[in-house]
Formats: sequence, structure tokens, C-alpha cells
Amino acid sequence: MLHAVPTQPARFMERYVLEAVPRYTSYPPATRFHDGVGAANWSVWMDEQPERPVLSLYVHIPFCKTMCWYCGCNTTVPNRDERVARYLDALDREIRTRPAPENGIVHHIHFGGGSPDMLSPERFHRIMDAFRDRFEIADEAEIAVELDPRGVTEDLAEALAAAGVTRASLGVQDLSPEVQTLIHRIQPAETVARAAMRLRRAGILAINMDIMYGLPAQTVERVEATARAVADMGADRVSVFGYAHVPWFKKHQRAIPEDRLPGASERFDQMHAAAACLKDAGYAAIGFDHFARPEDSLARAARAGELRRNFQGYTDDPYDVLIGYGASSISESRQGYLQNLTDPAHYAQALENGTPVQVRGLERTPTECETGERIARLLCDFEVEPGPDGFDAEALADVIADGLVVLRPDRLIVTPAGRPYVRNIAARIDPAFQATVNQHSQAV
Ligand code: SF4
Repeated sequence: MLHAVPTQPARFMERYVLEAVPRYTSYPPATRFHDGVGAANWSVWMDEQPERPVLSLYVHIPFCKTMCWYCGCNTTVPNRDERVARYLDALDREIRTRPAPENGIVHHIHFGGGSPDMLSPERFHRIMDAFRDRFEIADEAEIAVELDPRGVTEDLAEALAAAGVTRASLGVQDLSPEVQTLIHRIQPAETVARAAMRLRRAGILAINMDIMYGLPAQTVERVEATARAVADMGADRVSVFGYAHVPWFKKHQRAIPEDRLPGASERFDQMHAAAACLKDAGYAAIGFDHFARPEDSLARAARAGELRRNFQGYTDDPYDVLIGYGASSISESRQGYLQNLTDPAHYAQALENGTPVQVRGLERTPTECETGERIARLLCDFEVEPGPDGFDAEALADVIADGLVVLRPDRLIVTPAGRPYVRNIAARIDPAFQATVNQHSQAV
């Protein structure tokens, strides 16, 4: 069934859809990171943590078996196993030596990439052993791993389950053979279903699936078919991401045929169609691009007003400190953000030489913390209370006039029509925002 897509006034295209706004996965945005903040700041920040901070650990595996043309991640195809082995040695060293709060307790561990399924079971266990040696891990901790469905063998599924993994995220994107050919990622629906079955059979019961819109040759019908398929496969959470075409930044994207890319209006329709399918299938909409079964922890957090926003999008992770290990990983605490060297070889070299890998970031001012929290509340709850100086009605004039928000003295409320544009609305309560099309991503 093709869903009716709400029509948007033509002026919305220029005013909102094409407006360059931050993703607001951090505040201030990562575009403001600089090299004046580094490892020395991290040591100070760790000394300032509460008595028993809740910790979240992220580990980046920047390797894949093949390159998907649409990929926007920091990853490479390693031509020699020595590159992976060297990286793993460096990772082990970073985990064991980097300052961290001594009395912290870990509630979340996330393996991202790249494709963590590139790791052999032994290598996966090695990282988990390093974490267990270094940290106290809560019995009920969530251990999540991003996986390429094509790499999920029965052996891997069992090894991940034995290592304590509780949640897996499978990259699905689009199930149409034509789209898969154009994005260089051939994985029929059966491959995804088999991966999910192997994981569940091994005991990893929470399965996320990521789908996309805006890919070459995608249509509303194809996006709907993919959304229905992941719902039928029983995904607990579904993320719906728009393809960001930045071939000047990600050179492999030059292989994407630009004349097959949907236009801004088609992207909008595809996004709506995916959302409508998932809601029909019983998913709760979480923020502007996540969907979850009502019993999933993300949906429960949303109902409780405990949803948060970080570099992975929406999360229910209640951390005080997020420690990002590996190349390009970003760490976060109340005091600020720090990013590691992005090139895996440079990262490994620095750890071999004993030089810092945390090389850029920023320290947050109290005002930035407060603004960041208000923006997060808007993106998570679709409403926010005024800041110390109230609301800037002038900055909000267009979204008020267009019916995207209702401004009351005690709060700003995003209307249902405004939800797809919530990042545009966030930009209007962000005093530091300056629209710079080349630095930020398209809102829809
Ligand atoms: S599997 Fe994921 S990380 Fe690897 S190239 Fe494809 S999209 Fe990028």
C-alpha cells in the first residue's frame, strides 16, 4: 500500500528542507572542535567526575570487507591482516592506559564501525577482556554491536553471545536489487533474515535495523517495501537515515550515479513513507528518525522523558562519561568533547610511540551545557522550556507562522507538522547557529 504523503508548501523546500543545519548529535557541534583541547584536558575532566560515575564505552572498528558507495563512516578495506592486528594492539593499549574514573561502573558498551564483524571471535574476546580487566561492568549492562548482515556466521553469532553481547544493529538500507547494485552492497532480504535468525538463536534477542532513503534509484515504493520487510523480520528498533551525498569529502561516493539520486521533494516523501509504514506496523516514533517497538528500552525511555541525544543519534544510555576508543572516536563528559586521531595508521603509530591520540575537541561553557540540554530536550521531547532570557520570538517567527511550533510563555511545542523540521527549529533556539550549507547536512 502506498501511503498518502502530506503535501508541504513549496516555500518549505527553500526555507527548511534545503537549510543547512547541524545534526545536533553534540552541542556545540563537532564542526567547532579544535586542536587546543586534548589528552591533558581529559585527565583533568576525569578527576572532576562524581563519586561513582556511570560509564559508557564506545569502540570503533574502522574496517570493512568491501566498501559501500554510499558509506559516510570512517572505515577502510584493509588489504592486509597486519593492519587489523596492529590496530587491535593499539586499541588494547588505549583501553588499558587511558585515564578513566577509577570508581566508574559501565552500563553500556557499543562496538561501531566500520564492521565489527570483521573481527574474529578471538579478537572480539580480546577487546572484551581488556574492558573487563579495566572496568567494573554492571551485570545488566547492554553490550551492542553493529554488524554487516553478510558477515554474520553462526560461529560469530555464538561468539558474540558468549562474550555477553545483548543487542545487534544490522545495516539493511534498501532491499531492492537495483538500489543494492548502485550502492555496491548486495544483500538480499534472506541474508538479513538469516543474520537476525542466527543472532536470536545464539541468544542475542534485541535486534536493530537501519534503513535509508535518498539512495540512487530509490522510490517511495521501494522504501516502503524495505520498511515493511524489517518490521516483518521483527526488528526491535529501526533507524531511518537520509543518504548524505558528499563526494568531495567521501571520494568513493563518486561511484554513485548522481542522475539517479532522488530530489529533495522525493527524499521528503520517502522519509514520510518509511515513517508511516513503521507506525502502521506498531512502532513508536522516537525523535525524528528512530522507531522502536513499544516495549523496547528506547521507547520506554522516550515515554519517561529520559531520551538523550549523542553521536549515535537517540539513546537511553544514562552515562556521565562516554569514553570513545579507537580511531576517530569521540568521548564526552559534562566538561566537553574529545576526538581521537581519525586515521587508523596514525592512531596505531601514536599509541606505539606513547604520544596522545586525543587531539581535538572542545571544552563546554556552562551556557553551552544549558543550551545543549535545551536543544536535546526539543529533539527528544518535541517541547522545551524557555532559557534564562526566554525565547527569541524573532528567530522563531517563520516556524511559528508556518505552524511548525506553538509558542507559549512557559514552553515551545513542536506541532506534528513541525516534527520533520525539528532540527531547523532547534537551530532557531541555538544562539550560536549560523547557516553554512557546506558545513552542515541537509535537514531532510
Ligand atoms: S558496511 Fe557500513 S561501514 Fe562498511 S562500507 Fe558499508 S556502510 Fe560503510
